[in-house]
Amino acid sequence: MHAARPAYEDGRRPVNPPIVRASTVDFASLAQMEAAMTPGASSAQSFTYGVRGTPTTFALESLITELEGGFGSKLYSSGLEAISAVLLAYLRPGDHLLVVDTVYAPVRHLLTHFLADRGIHFDYYSPRETNLEALIKPETRMIYTESPGSASMELQDIAAIAAIAKSHKNLLVACDNTWSSGYCFRPLEHGVDLSIVAGTKYLGGHSDVLMGSVTATEAAFERLHEASVLLGLAVSADDAALTLRGARTLHIRYPAHAERALQMAEWLESRDEVVGVFYPPLKSSPDHALWQRDFDGAASLFSIELDPQLAAHQHQFIDALQLFGLGASWGGFESLILPCNMPANRSVDDWRGRGPILRLHIGLEDPSDLIDDLSASFAAIG
Ligand SMILES: *Cc1c(COP(=O)(O)O)cnc(C)c1O
Repeated sequence: MHAARPAYEDGRRPVNPPIVRASTVDFASLAQMEAAMTPGASSAQSFTYGVRGTPTTFALESLITELEGGFGSKLYSSGLEAISAVLLAYLRPGDHLLVVDTVYAPVRHLLTHFLADRGIHFDYYSPRETNLEALIKPETRMIYTESPGSASMELQDIAAIAAIAKSHKNLLVACDNTWSSGYCFRPLEHGVDLSIVAGTKYLGGHSDVLMGSVTATEAAFERLHEASVLLGLAVSADDAALTLRGARTLHIRYPAHAERALQMAEWLESRDEVVGVFYPPLKSSPDHALWQRDFDGAASLFSIELDPQLAAHQHQFIDALQLFGLGASWGGFESLILPCNMPANRSVDDWRGRGPILRLHIGLEDPSDLIDDLSASFAAIG
């Protein structure tokens, strides 16, 4: 909560870092300019030119580094840009990538429609894969994980994956940590090299800003920083300030979301229309023990599977909802529902023939109002 706050010598300070909008930085002397421009990671937070960052974006980087427990962080204008930066920074033509089958779906499109053409090879692995080692090729340079996985929410043993990677030369592990947002799981402490967070979600927390971050170990940071410089990746001071503002209350909002989500998940489990609830904090989840081992909390994002017989009623069910919004993204104060096309977004695990899968994000509304909303929609299709 107090991370990345400005300090002034006489003790006075604004509560928040000022929003510094800048392209040009006007130096006092050429010597000062030359000193600020030293290449490499040591100058990652040197205020030299707006594209390289401003005191406002540096403050957010520092806050995220403190949350995630890494060496340094870089910011990106969206979560997806953070992911593409990771893939562009560390992979070269001929390299191979192992990607979890539950990856955030746009990453599939990035791989198929952009990186494949540029000589990056990839295979998907099931989040339930028990012999990842067997899938590693001599040219495998990265294992890309996300835990819990998108939509179906399987957890993976991240420490075990990182240990496998460490037994190979030049094999990095990247982890999309948006579900935890650095609050209840810190991938770098489990041996991961690069942790990605869509700050658009819980860090921003109010559905009004796009932000991405990557936090790296010391060994991996230099290349990450270099890629941002080479590609000209930058975020605005205003967006950084909005994300900082959201992050100040993360520790209050995040558990409040989780408490409501667990209540909703348990209620949904009790409904006849629902044949599955995918949420590791539920005692019924096959991942409950792993979640208890690795996580200090939970996000309010989970999915349900409706009775396959209700497939024809999916539109009616969703359109009857009054309080749940229908839309992409999550992590804001408002509850959302989104149908998931599982067969289109899985290459390994077979999801054909299942009931409708709906992803729910539980906001900060009163759970009894959310239950009333869902009950009315169930009644409408019953
Ligand atoms: C939303 C999301 C992203 C992408 O974030 P954007 O800021 O929307 O680009 C990446 N990973 C996960 C798991 C997400 O939910």
